Amino acid sequence: MNIEKEHKYIPSYSRPDTFTDQAWIIALAENKVLMKRTETGYSIPAYQDFKGVLQDSGDLEFIGTYDGHDCYCKRIPEATVLPEHFEFVERREITALTKEPDLFLLAGNANHILHWYSMNQFCGRCGHKTYSKEDERAKVCPACGNIIYPRISPATITAIFKDEQILLAHNRKFKEGLYSLVAGFVEAGETLEECVEREIMEEIGIKVKNVRYFTSQPWAFPDSLMFAFTAEYESGEITVDGDEITDAGWYTADCLPDIPTRDSVAGKLIRWYRDKQ
Ligand SMILES: [Zn+2]
Repeated sequence: MNIEKEHKYIPSYSRPDTFTDQAWIIALAENKVLMKRTETGYSIPAYQDFKGVLQDSGDLEFIGTYDGHDCYCKRIPEATVLPEHFEFVERREITALTKEPDLFLLAGNANHILHWYSMNQFCGRCGHKTYSKEDERAKVCPACGNIIYPRISPATITAIFKDEQILLAHNRKFKEGLYSLVAGFVEAGETLEECVEREIMEEIGIKVKNVRYFTSQPWAFPDSLMFAFTAEYESGEITVDGDEITDAGWYTADCLPDIPTRDSVAGKLIRWYRDKQ
């Protein structure tokens, strides 16, 4: 099922022939994004807004287009002296500040690519310095020919239903009172469906059936790709692992606890369930 509208952000590695001052610059410091603050709200700054803060455009990574704007990214120190009206904002706050959910995806991909670059400056096989490959998004080692593609870590996240109820769980890392769906990374050699069943058994102690693909979403903290599923309860009693999950229960649509925002696929899936009841 596709619950997404067409995205404004279109990822691409293929750098345009010309660079203009109007190109958007996604400047990151850890999980923060540099935004321009105006009377009407927050926006991604263009290259021309930086006026000397960025020395040249050569070390900017092209990551695609947003609503027709060429987009480049770069990491900058949080201590950088910024032009007036510039502000670092948390990546998770972008949608709330701009009402543009696709900016979350844009900033996420900037983080994904820059994180991968920083982790692969040297060849893992021979230790030589790597360089960017010109015809695709990859790093290449000139000494041994090793080609390194961006790491993408698959994970599953599942909405489990029992009669008209949905299972929601509180993870130890969540803020107090927040409940979400059961998620976990795919192990080597495992199918996505096997991952769904294993994670639910490990964390919640129940067996599920009729596992169905729902949608997918990049989740660049730092490099996950979430595969969302629905499943039906089959058997067992809820027994949380106490390690990752500290509480879980069955909820009806009219009585949900705090749930994640629509930026996450969990937030979208839980609202899809709520709205169809
Ligand atoms: Zn090498």
